Amino acid sequence: SRAKLFDEKTDVKITFKDVAGLEGAKEEVQEIVEFLKNPEKYTSLGGKIPKGALLVGPPGTGKTLLAKAVAGEAKVPFFSLSGSDFVEMFVGVGASRVRDLFKQAKDKSPSIIFIDEIDAVGRARGKNNFSGSNDERENTLNQLLTEMDGFGTNTHVIVLAATNRADVLDKALMRAGRFDRQIYVDLPDIRERKEIFEVHLKPLKKVDDLDIDFLAKQTPGFSGADIANVCNEAALIAARNNKTAVDKQDFLDAVDRIVGGLEKKNKIVT
Ligand code: ATP
Repeated sequence: SRAKLFDEKTDVKITFKDVAGLEGAKEEVQEIVEFLKNPEKYTSLGGKIPKGALLVGPPGTGKTLLAKAVAGEAKVPFFSLSGSDFVEMFVGVGASRVRDLFKQAKDKSPSIIFIDEIDAVGRARGKNNFSGSNDERENTLNQLLTEMDGFGTNTHVIVLAATNRADVLDKALMRAGRFDRQIYVDLPDIRERKEIFEVHLKPLKKVDDLDIDFLAKQTPGFSGADIANVCNEAALIAARNNKTAVDKQDFLDAVDRIVGGLEKKNKIVT
């Protein structure tokens, strides 16, 4: 069967209140929300709306979540695909998929295109590539650049792309009129971890005296995705022990388990 072209969501429910911490990044994308909600207001004086922004930061820090929240806040359709999907695709189709994606997004503008793992397709041209055909990847990248250059000021499609390797990207991607804005999405500090816990604790049945400051203190280096995992894991551990509410010990056990998982993952990498 045919691999999926890209994903389209027309009724995104995620908003900024689902994204904990990341105040600076949210402020920066707020501007994009304003452009999408009221493009004419910004172009009426001759200004050009930015075409793209790069979300840069470690895995699991909320880049995808933030991009979705932009679509949810602006109430515009969200088109997404992952750069690694391109690389795995059959030869000769990457460029046409990019073309299809942009056509759909333009037809439904104002809209957002989100490209996760853009480094898979956007690595500097002419460098070694261990996965897939290099020509194929370059054709896909060239098509992406062509599409972005082809946008007029009244296209009203904004392309957000995510990477944790901004250093390997082809400089052509960062030129004016392409991904000329970089927005940093960093690992959360202790205060932000507390806020992320608050978001992910909400659906859990937990003891009344759970100390969230303590949980934030116990999780240095954890990403938002790790914290979401801890909360879910804690609920499962509590259930396994036939508890009626998730308590501090369940969270500590869950933290241990996630730390163990992270250590294993790091061992494979290094
Ligand atoms: P990757 O680089 O691995 O694709 P990412 O930066 O795109 O990661 P997301 O996919 O957005 O990260 O995050 C995964 C999940 O982690 C989210 O769906 C959410 O549940 C949780 N999460 C991450 N960051 C936050 C945050 N700042 N606030 C609330 N939840 C978060």
